[in-house]
Amino acid sequence: MSFQNPVFIPGPTNIPEDIRKACDIPTLDHRSPAFARMFKPAVAGVRRVLKMEAGEVIVLPSTGTGGWEAAISNTLSPGDTVLAARFGMFSHRWIDMCQRHGLNVQIIETPWGFGAPLGAIEAALKADTGRTIKAVLATHNETATGVKSDIAGIRRAMDAAGHPAMLMVDGVSSIGSMPFEFSRWGVDIAVAGSQKGFMLPAGLAILGVSPKAIAAMDTATLPRTFFDFRDMLAAYARGGYPYTPAVGLIAGLARSIEMLEDEGLDNVYARHARLAEGVRRAIAAWGMAPYAASADLYSDTVTAVRVPDGCNGTDLVQLAAKKYGVAFGVGLGEVAGKVFRIGHLGMLTEVMMLSGLATAEMCMADLGWPVKLGSGVAAAQEYYRGSAPAMAIAAE
Ligand SMILES: *Cc1c(COP(=O)(O)O)cnc(C)c1O
Repeated sequence: MSFQNPVFIPGPTNIPEDIRKACDIPTLDHRSPAFARMFKPAVAGVRRVLKMEAGEVIVLPSTGTGGWEAAISNTLSPGDTVLAARFGMFSHRWIDMCQRHGLNVQIIETPWGFGAPLGAIEAALKADTGRTIKAVLATHNETATGVKSDIAGIRRAMDAAGHPAMLMVDGVSSIGSMPFEFSRWGVDIAVAGSQKGFMLPAGLAILGVSPKAIAAMDTATLPRTFFDFRDMLAAYARGGYPYTPAVGLIAGLARSIEMLEDEGLDNVYARHARLAEGVRRAIAAWGMAPYAASADLYSDTVTAVRVPDGCNGTDLVQLAAKKYGVAFGVGLGEVAGKVFRIGHLGMLTEVMMLSGLATAEMCMADLGWPVKLGSGVAAAQEYYRGSAPAMAIAAE
């Protein structure tokens, strides 16, 4: 793998030079006021990115998976019922984690390529007259299939059923890259990770927790120690941390928020939408299609490309790595071989994206796939030429 090339995987994402430098700080005593000075703006920034009015931001030395565990173990008790739709590897893994924690998961099996089924969720909640469902789990952006789910719609379904369950959202591959509205959508726990939209190395689980979820931690009896929000919040109140924080990553997080806000969150989201649309134009020109079942489900951060019959997506990913030093994502689970994934999130521009599309085309030609060199690139070029905002040149 060449370190000169950007990666086109849906996380970890490319790390801007500024963020790498920001992470590179000398040892800092995390019990000193200097740490609190660094930590507070990072937490305040996450709150703005999540669009969170009330509640707490929790930053754990972990990854997104640890964020899932923190979400359930702080708010639920063994035997509690949670409702979740399964439509890809990431929604599956969260469900599996719940089961391994002794939760009773009411699973809505949904074909891969689709998102969270609002009607089925509403029906399940309405049927739950005894109010045994304690939480609805939703994967905002299913990274395995490139499908986004309608979280506002899930909230509406919950309200329509008049159901008091908490809403927990896996936003690991959406937050910081696609619009997210913690308070407006009535989210109780949102989970993000440092290595996707925040453009940092892996190592932080970043959570938004609503007042209702905070209240749930008093009665929740699932075991937790390292991830216990109570310890975390008590330490925050003293300007500190219950154990040694990942100080360098937290320094980088503050810089990440600055970069996102300098660009403007809406511009960040618009850039992701443009990058994604250009990728889809290229895919169409190749005679292929996204795995996502319909346009309203298309993710702005990752596209799973359905490969032609007789072709194997994993071959392309392996060749790209070996021959060109470029990383794409393989198909996971039931779509292994049937797709390859193009990550288009984080520090990426139209110009970088074109290099990824050109590389994918070279691999297809090398593998003898029925694709004309330049066809996808040209389609993306046409789209980017017409959609790219002029670079703002700072006036002297
Ligand atoms: C990457 C990802 C995760 C897992 O995060 P890790 O940081 O690898 O633990 C969870 N959910 C989604 C949707 C993801 O994309």
